[in-house]
Amino acid sequence: MTFDELKLSEPLLRAVKAEGYTTPTPIQQRAIPPALAGQDVLGCAQTGTGKTAAFALPILHRLSSGRPPPAAHGRPIRVLILTPTRELASQIADSFQAYGRFTGLSWAVIFGGVGQHAQEQTLRRGVDVLIATPGRLLDLMSQGLVSYKALEVFVLDEADRMLDMGFIHDVKRIIAALPQKRQTLFFSATMPPEIQSLAQGILKSPVRVEV
Ligand code: AMP
Repeated sequence: MTFDELKLSEPLLRAVKAEGYTTPTPIQQRAIPPALAGQDVLGCAQTGTGKTAAFALPILHRLSSGRPPPAAHGRPIRVLILTPTRELASQIADSFQAYGRFTGLSWAVIFGGVGQHAQEQTLRRGVDVLIATPGRLLDLMSQGLVSYKALEVFVLDEADRMLDMGFIHDVKRIIAALPQKRQTLFFSATMPPEIQSLAQGILKSPVRVEV
């Protein structure tokens, strides 16, 4: 299988080629088609399998090919990606930079341990894709700085690590604030019972992909 066969938009194919990728990895081959079709995905995959592109490419395709949201809303958050650590958040942002460079879309990273001011400014300006760790995002939400009115896609990355790091309660509080009508892409390296039940609670008829 080639990236062209995945029917990704031209700006994405160009970016993928510029990265030097020739063949989609197994998780990409199996997760991209249902994600492009708007289905929920439950992906059992580790870092290193190409899972970031498996969710970033369909998201970028969706955001760049659909009708943009009404201008009256400024640039509202259309995609939220939750990940447990600032390193992972930064890596995901780098991937969006690589794959989304020809799309004209915007993304931003939010994590704790640094000043809040720049993140506040970013939220006020607005971004298409917000990549965040749970603690700082909850802080900003509780200050009324985050609106999910235009949210279309939610990605939960490394769900099992969220559990290990004690973030699962924060994650659940964030999910409770999201619109029900959305696409959810859920990734975890392992599926302990608590993660299975979380997945069951938030995914609608998901396509399961294990690599
Ligand atoms: P990830 O699992 O998303 O952290 O990706 C692991 C590494 O694989 C990253 O360095 C990506 O740049 C690289 N990668 C992702 N997809 C492909 C692909 N289809 N072909 C070659 N390298 C890839």
